[in-house]
Amino acid sequence: MAGNISIILNPPNISINIDFVTVEKQTGEEKGEEEDEGTDEENGGAEISPEASSLPKLTPWALRYGASFDANSGWTPISIYFPCHSNELTPEELTELEKIKDMEAFQRRSLNGLTTMQLVDLDAISTRPLKAPNLANAIHPIIRLDRWEKTLHPAFTRQSLYPIGGDHEGDWIASNPVVYSAFEPVMQLVSRILLNVQMTPWFDAFMLGEKRAIPKDRIPADVSNNDPYPDMEYMSFHCRPGPMTQERQDQSEIIRDGFFSTLANQFDLFLGFFPRDIDPRDGLRDSYGHGLTIFETPEHKDDSFISIWLCINDVEGLLDSTINDSERLGMQWFIANTMVHEFMHAIWFAMWGTERDFNVKFPPDDPYFEDEPIAEAGFSMEQAMFGGTANTMPDKPGTTHFGHWIEHWPNIESIALSSGVVMLSPALQATRVVYPVRVSFYEEIHQEEFWDIGVRQFGFHLFNNRNLRVGIRQELDVTWTGEREPDIFDADSAPEMVASFRILSRELLQAELLGLSPLQRKAQLLARSFLQSTIIENSFLQHSEQAATNMRHIMAEASTQGQYGNIMAQQKRYIMEALKSHGIAAKSLANLQKANGTLYPDRRHNLLHWNKGMRTYLNEVENIMRANTPAATPERPLREELSMLERCRMSIVCPPDSEIPIEEIEDKRLGPAFHANTVGNKLLCLQLCSDITQEPSCTLLDACLARLLAAAVNSSISKATRKNDVALSIDELRRLMGSHPELACPHPWIEVLDRWIVVAEAVWMGILKIRSKSPHHTKR
Ligand SMILES: [Zn+2]
Repeated sequence: MAGNISIILNPPNISINIDFVTVEKQTGEEKGEEEDEGTDEENGGAEISPEASSLPKLTPWALRYGASFDANSGWTPISIYFPCHSNELTPEELTELEKIKDMEAFQRRSLNGLTTMQLVDLDAISTRPLKAPNLANAIHPIIRLDRWEKTLHPAFTRQSLYPIGGDHEGDWIASNPVVYSAFEPVMQLVSRILLNVQMTPWFDAFMLGEKRAIPKDRIPADVSNNDPYPDMEYMSFHCRPGPMTQERQDQSEIIRDGFFSTLANQFDLFLGFFPRDIDPRDGLRDSYGHGLTIFETPEHKDDSFISIWLCINDVEGLLDSTINDSERLGMQWFIANTMVHEFMHAIWFAMWGTERDFNVKFPPDDPYFEDEPIAEAGFSMEQAMFGGTANTMPDKPGTTHFGHWIEHWPNIESIALSSGVVMLSPALQATRVVYPVRVSFYEEIHQEEFWDIGVRQFGFHLFNNRNLRVGIRQELDVTWTGEREPDIFDADSAPEMVASFRILSRELLQAELLGLSPLQRKAQLLARSFLQSTIIENSFLQHSEQAATNMRHIMAEASTQGQYGNIMAQQKRYIMEALKSHGIAAKSLANLQKANGTLYPDRRHNLLHWNKGMRTYLNEVENIMRANTPAATPERPLREELSMLERCRMSIVCPPDSEIPIEEIEDKRLGPAFHANTVGNKLLCLQLCSDITQEPSCTLLDACLARLLAAAVNSSISKATRKNDVALSIDELRRLMGSHPELACPHPWIEVLDRWIVVAEAVWMGILKIRSKSPHHTKR
């Protein structure tokens, strides 16, 4: 969008007057920008009026996810705080800093030790647009519309259906067009997963694996002693030996489809929605989570039926037309996963209900998978298929999820979600391991290619390999008080980041590549592109985390020194290391965007936030150093660092295109400053230039250009000073452009800087002319 192109990117044509630079508009397109800036000026530069700012202002995050902390959302991403001296802060600033610290603590408490800012860096939260889903499969007959609740089941005592409420008409039934249009993609994804589930060894074991009685020594003594059904067995099911061949998959598929038809024909399976913590049978309060499978076994065995229920609170977020892509696709996946989870229970009920020779304990608790100490077929399937069980962020009913976790199952906390007997061995771990789900996972799982090539070729491992890369390990404090469930708290130790980088597939030899079918070759390409993006992603994460760590070292150094003035060699080393990491993270992000063909505006925003914080710090330190050190000190003691930082910023906002908000590229006052000069308002122009250079977070480039403009305009200061200012600007522009071993200037910026150097040289010539000619010869 040309109207948004900043003044920096297009240096104005200038003609040198004796006293000032005349800005000539290049194109009419810039007009819109100028007018916008003018409006901002009238509004006091888009600042909130004092009246407005005194009201508690809900952040966009609070509006969407609930005001969980203060009037603020509490979830809004906050950056690490940069060094500052508490004795230099105003009481308001101190309060603000305390609030930020509290908010960070709140986020870490609620998000397994992470902040939303880190989750953005992990691409677990994102506002970027995602690829449009293109799944082409039909909806499986087992979940087709005619299987969903339309009227109350005669066996239920509940009084009515649940109205949607709000702006929506009708009830929470799938055939309501409001519900169906939002829910259809979930049904499609569920169908896709159910149709592929036989590829997992877990499901193969569930269908056809050996069933064994659990040895007595694994069963708790109090259970054995009070057993009402001593003749029956606790049972586990086991993977069949050998590889998952196509033949085996075909076998489990036949059994699977047999159960689907048993569910449909013999158990009249139907599905419906229920409000959280309400039993859909009688409408009374009970504690149910995201999903529910009910096996009704009345007197007459032929009247048995099975129903599956989904929590309305999870689905209603999909009716909100303002949710972003990642929220929508993420919630679709989460609900689909819940449905597949419930289907495992339903299949087990069908299995048990038709094959009573299983001789398992009644009521039919789930069977145990291999040596898992907890029997929960749904979670066990999630663990096998996705590498863990799904959870929401925030973990709060009735709100839109901004992300999801995958949590290793089972651990000591899993006892709370199991109704059956917990076996004595193996002992449940008092550790929580969670992985934030990547936004790209939601994106991929909704793509035909992912299933058609990816899953077909690599099986369900593809999910885990793509998704579970960086997670959190948290120790738990467990106290047994004689209850079935222990009291569990997070241990005092800080959660630890865990990385599980796994390589998707080895590189194939040339000879092997030649022998591949077209599908296999495509799959190989897909694997490689995944591998490549994984490597770049790791580099990005590692270095953004490293930059943050270095920043903390710098802060520690700054606080022990007490004063900025004496910037120690050690601190300078940390600064340079931090800048290098920051530069690599910036470069990785650019590569990632290229490799994946998508933009990551939230991650870019984080990098820019870091850049700005560091810049403010360095500018401040430099000012103090200049003010407090002997005259022999160089004029710009941190020139190297600031220049490096500016290059990093330029590579983050590169290419400087319309996708990037103007204020992230340059100071909003630069345009008006040039405009003021154009219309002859010299005073305003100089005032704006001075405001820009005195801004604590002023960028090197903005400072250069503001200084250049002021030097051109300001006839009231000595020519020598003006010349010196222009020379400094030219020098810094050249420094930004020049080759640098750590981080080269991004190519599109070279052109921009080049154009500005031409302008600066013209200003220089203009000032020279002033000296050699009469000041009254105004025209060139
Ligand atoms: Zn379950």
